[in-house]
Amino acid sequence: MSKCSVLVIEDEKKIQAFMGKILKRQEYRVFYADTGTQGLEFIRSQCPDIILLDLGLPDMDGDDIIREVRSWSSIPIIVISARTAEREKVIALDLGADDYITKPFGTSELLARIRASLRHSNRLRTDESYYLRPYRHGDLILDFSKRLLTIGEKEIHLTPIEYKIVACLAQNSGKVITYSSILSNVWGPYADDDNKILRVNMANIRRKIETDPAQPKYIFTEVGVGYRMAEDEADISPKKR
Ligand code: CA
Repeated sequence: MSKCSVLVIEDEKKIQAFMGKILKRQEYRVFYADTGTQGLEFIRSQCPDIILLDLGLPDMDGDDIIREVRSWSSIPIIVISARTAEREKVIALDLGADDYITKPFGTSELLARIRASLRHSNRLRTDESYYLRPYRHGDLILDFSKRLLTIGEKEIHLTPIEYKIVACLAQNSGKVITYSSILSNVWGPYADDDNKILRVNMANIRRKIETDPAQPKYIFTEVGVGYRMAEDEADISPKKR
């Protein structure tokens, strides 16, 4: 996954420099834009592999960039957001952003977000068989072809709805999935947008798969936004595959 091009649209030089340093060390090719206008120009002419987007830019709203880019491209977009701005994150994700990262963030978090989004976009384009490979994290294995979830040697019995929720998260592992997108994925496009049914199911799933449901190892809550399943281990260190 090295040599991918990353465009950082961010007006704070300090954050630009911090990201640049981390990304170059991983052999990403890094480009910067200080304004939305510069960013859009670069995207149209150079088509980077992934975009890191600050929502608060001097000349325009980050949301406008997401809207514009999504009208013609599915380039992964990761939003850089402030800690308490849940509503802002949900709006950006609903507009088509792939994920978000919250300031202040660390190296491993930044790299994990990029990895998950790139992987997901590559998969959509090229690898239809991907979903047949089991998901694995720690002792948990989800075999999509057998619809079988095991932890260690133990088979975990999920209801059909619970299975759909876990499968949806595992197929997008490492990426945040909003409540509304899980609801429409599992219950269909006309699903009620009431999260309660999802929370009830998630509580049951956690009781079945987590040793301590209050300290989950496999499925994390992104408060006010959705859920994120731990990255597939084969994707973190491909050599184990
Ligand atoms: Ca800013």
